[in-house]
Amino acid sequence: MEECIFCKIIRGEIPGKFVYRDTQVVAFHDISPKAPVHVLVVPVKHIESVREITPEDQELMGLLMLKVKDIAKKLGIALSGYKVVVNNGESAGQLVFHLHLHLLGGWKKSPGWEV
Ligand code: AMP
Ligand code: ZN
Repeated sequence: MEECIFCKIIRGEIPGKFVYRDTQVVAFHDISPKAPVHVLVVPVKHIESVREITPEDQELMGLLMLKVKDIAKKLGIALSGYKVVVNNGESAGQLVFHLHLHLLGGWKKSPGWEV
């Protein structure tokens, strides 16, 4: 069983503020938001980073992006705009080695935030 923090959140062993979950993809609010809306979209399958994806993951990778689209709509940032960021490897700032897409948006509604 994976000991990584995101696997523990997915298994419910540590709390997460979920905005979406199904058997393949989950999304929860980042604990330290860098934007007014900052959600992490995460495959249930433990894959460390883009470096470790395989052709077997092709469908799952497509599904992740479709979920980003749906979750952005659900959170009300689809039309105002958002960023999708994936950090890969330590020098790129990856801290949690379970692949995740940062979905960042909502700046227009929060004047104090800079893009
Ligand atoms: P990265 O630097 O791309 O690996 O991003 C990891 C992200 O996970 C950071 O933005 C952290 O704030 C976030 N994070 C770490 N621990 C938790 C947690 N327990 N719940 C939600 N987000 C977390
Ligand atoms: Zn994991």
